Amino acid sequence: MADRHTGAGLEGGTILGYPRIGRRRQLKRALEGHWAGRIDADTLAQAAADIRASTWNRLHDLGLEAHDAAIPSDFSYYDQVLDAAVLVGAIPERFAQWRDDAGRLSLDGYFAMARGVDRVAPLEMTKWFDTNYHYLVPEIGPDTEFRLSGDQPALLFAEGLSHGFVTRPVIVGPVTLLALSKPAEGAPEGFEPLDRLDDLLPVYAEVLAGLAALDAPWVQLDESALVSELVPVDRARLLVAARHAYQVLGELAERPQILAQASYAALDDALPALAETPIEGVAIDLVRGDVPTADAPGVAGLRDKLVVAGVVDGHNIWRADLDAALERLEALRPLAGRVVPSSSTSLFHVPHTLDDETSLDPELRGWLAFADEKVAEIVALARAYDGDREGVIDAFEAARAASASRRAHAGVHRPEVAKRLAGLTPADFARAPYAERAAVQADELHLPLLPTTTIGSFPQTPEIRRTRARHNRGEIDEATYREEIRGHIRDVIELQERIGLDVLVHGEAERNDMVQYFAEHLEGFAVTENGWVQSYGSRCTRPSILWGDVVRPEPFTVEWIRYAQSLTEKPVKGMLTGPVTILAWSFVRDDQPRRDTADQVALALRDEISDLEAAGIDIVQVDEPAIRELLPLKRRDHADYLDWSVSAFRLATSGARTRTQIHTHLCYSEFGQIIDAVDGLDADVTSVEAERSRMDIVRDIRAAGFARGIGPGVYDIHSPRVPAEDDVEQLLDIALDSIPASQLWVNPDCGLKTRRYEEVVPALTHMVEAARGERARL
Ligand code: GLN
Ligand code: ZN
Repeated sequence: MADRHTGAGLEGGTILGYPRIGRRRQLKRALEGHWAGRIDADTLAQAAADIRASTWNRLHDLGLEAHDAAIPSDFSYYDQVLDAAVLVGAIPERFAQWRDDAGRLSLDGYFAMARGVDRVAPLEMTKWFDTNYHYLVPEIGPDTEFRLSGDQPALLFAEGLSHGFVTRPVIVGPVTLLALSKPAEGAPEGFEPLDRLDDLLPVYAEVLAGLAALDAPWVQLDESALVSELVPVDRARLLVAARHAYQVLGELAERPQILAQASYAALDDALPALAETPIEGVAIDLVRGDVPTADAPGVAGLRDKLVVAGVVDGHNIWRADLDAALERLEALRPLAGRVVPSSSTSLFHVPHTLDDETSLDPELRGWLAFADEKVAEIVALARAYDGDREGVIDAFEAARAASASRRAHAGVHRPEVAKRLAGLTPADFARAPYAERAAVQADELHLPLLPTTTIGSFPQTPEIRRTRARHNRGEIDEATYREEIRGHIRDVIELQERIGLDVLVHGEAERNDMVQYFAEHLEGFAVTENGWVQSYGSRCTRPSILWGDVVRPEPFTVEWIRYAQSLTEKPVKGMLTGPVTILAWSFVRDDQPRRDTADQVALALRDEISDLEAAGIDIVQVDEPAIRELLPLKRRDHADYLDWSVSAFRLATSGARTRTQIHTHLCYSEFGQIIDAVDGLDADVTSVEAERSRMDIVRDIRAAGFARGIGPGVYDIHSPRVPAEDDVEQLLDIALDSIPASQLWVNPDCGLKTRRYEEVVPALTHMVEAARGERARL
């Protein structure tokens, strides 16, 4: 441990974390096999160990140093926040049955916390900062007994050693762990998990001592909560807590060197809280944040520290501008004890490697860097920064050539798109006044009070998946495919008529994913074959790549919706994904403001709506479940974000005729922060999730003076539980206390695609009966 407390290590660049799911999604398969009872815990553990070993070897092959903590050991079976909570014993009472006498949680208990079993509810899950990753929310109360209850960081470190690697364990830091936790049930009013910091720190001290005993030179503590103004903790309090925590940990005698990491935005006023403590390193995000100026608060504290400089974007897939990145490193040089180039975030937000993509257009491919290619960029930057510019001249040349090719590509800047955007006027963003629309729509649609509808998707059955898979593999021709999809649509329409719903949907059988389907039908997007990224636990998504100006070559939803409408007298909703959600769930071009990209998508949707209208469709739903998740972490950025996101939705929908009823669906329920923006969308009807919060949201809605149609969900589609008619009635009664009957819609919380028909049929039947009962009483 000669290097201890010298700031040495991480020579030649590092990364803050790496995809954990495996290049072939081996962890996903192993986890799901284990949950289904097909493979035992040892086999699962072996699969996980294999992934780690191949990751470490790969990172070393790509150029990271093997022996000085440049390679992180950041594995998780499910989620890193859950891991930290379990490590320190923050395990709610309802999971006590899975703890042994020493307080250690079994693997079954760990998965019970993640996923729930029988009557034991899992931890709540929510979005990790402004990303599409979801973490589990620890529950911490005044009585939570913190004690060391695991040894994963030490085990991973030791495992690394056995393969010949001195890795750097990564753990969610104490301040972020508490800031992201929620008060346990029964905690007194005013209690905050952060109140428990001093009780928690000794457990972190034990973890660090354990790593020191193994001679681990470095540990990385993820303190990304410090960059966010959205965590529910008073900012000043958060900063005091961070300074205190790192003072205490820094003064420990038995510990590795500490690297405090903050990703997703600039540390700003939190920089001093880390830089002025006795820790050895700070990792800062220089993609989202700027190099601090020499006189900024806290910067003096960096002089004797290792500064891990996140100059390569860990959150998007574009090849780095190496010249610009090197400039940032040089700007940092005089401010820092030592500078180590790195990714701005863990690389788990991007797919493993471009090597697994065989059908991307070669020119586009040249513009991209997935995780492995980013490691190579970092290694090249480190060599250039250390004086060997000549040795990496090829990498720099290739980066320049890629950005020149990107700038010059005819699909990136299409004059017809620019022209249409330039010609927009305020009138393109506004519809007729709501009162006028409501009157015309009532005449057209003849809907009853408390109209019933669903959010769009119906269960994606094995038959539906088979239809799509065979079509993708070219095993069935286009005509057969269309006929099979029509068959699925027919089934869904018949079912909805039988149940007695008022506004029908076509069921979305043709869509694998609500964004990818749009990416596949619009120009300016590409889809990958193996570009999987972890969304939560074993769940992965394959974000599309939005690389160029967006053009809709032809209508792509109309055929299905028109067919569905031809089968029924009831109105069928056209079903579109909104511009903000398409951006949020794709990798988006970084060469123009997102505002412009969103408006381009909006124009394509606007044309689709107009084609739907021409096909006789009177109701169109434009889903925007992601509008809340893109909310910037810094308040200073909110107004601009809400302005462009709301504008894009309005641009998409304001071309609709007065008689066309525009719906939107927002998924989550916490929209207190953005309720004015939701109002600003000017949709005729808005559906939101509400069941799990027992309609809490209706009070916000009333308080905001929300005057248009609103459908707070009355059926929790995240659970296999079938609500009784009575359950739905109770929720409707609560809603009707705050919302006039003339505004209230009756619908589930979200789409039904993950549920089974055995649950959906009785649930929707009870929902419709409850609505009828209420109607009769009104
Ligand atoms: N229309 C989509 C569906 O029903 C909406 C999904 C969502 O909100 N995430 O599946
Ligand atoms: Zn939803």
